[in-house]
Amino acid sequence: MNRRTFLTTAGTAAAATLLSTPTRAALAPIGLQQAPLPYAPEALEPHIDAMTMGIHHGKHHATYITKLGDALKASNLQTSNVIDLISDLSQAPEDQRMALRNNGGGHVNHTWFWKWMAPAGSGPQGPDGKLAEAIQSSFSSIENFKKLFGEAGTKRFGSGWAWLIVKPDGKLAVTSTANQDNPLMKGVVADAELGTPILGLDVWEHAYYLKYQNKRPDYIAAWWNVVNWAEVAQGYAAAKA
Ligand code: MN
Repeated sequence: MNRRTFLTTAGTAAAATLLSTPTRAALAPIGLQQAPLPYAPEALEPHIDAMTMGIHHGKHHATYITKLGDALKASNLQTSNVIDLISDLSQAPEDQRMALRNNGGGHVNHTWFWKWMAPAGSGPQGPDGKLAEAIQSSFSSIENFKKLFGEAGTKRFGSGWAWLIVKPDGKLAVTSTANQDNPLMKGVVADAELGTPILGLDVWEHAYYLKYQNKRPDYIAAWWNVVNWAEVAQGYAAAKA
């Protein structure tokens, strides 16, 4: 199945047609608007503090969207789905590619990140059903998965993300990326690490520094309390459909 990318060059309406991959088909499109946080900024306390959430969503994420808009304008591009845009930037002008990658990735990653969290105790406390079975069969146990995922976040040097992905063959994998890259970015991420993200953890210092300072492992340990496992299960089911 081929899909239009909605990447159009202003004036010519020429759209690039990209190969559809199972990687993206499962993901809801992300436009240029910023959705409000799905909970109050203080709702994740004590694990993630209200000030961090307010600045992270209201300043950091908002700035990625502003700069993405600037880069699109400078590129003479429009998009109705930033996921498609960042998954293959080969059509974008070379001098704007890095800005589109960083700010487009920043927008997409954070849009997901807010949904992958929920107030502690508001939903399932861990994976269950088919997701739990898949995690157990891929990583031998849920505890071992958490250990590997936490290590991916701890060992990521500088800023970046840890990911749980569904690979094109349907298998689960833990990966990590630098900066605002993500596992959909062909040509940026190694082919073997491409997949559909179903859980991601922001390990940029802006995500935890006010409360945890340099103690990234403490932030990661606390973050498990606010993972929205219902959302992760939904993402897994969609990626496997
Ligand atoms: Mn962030």
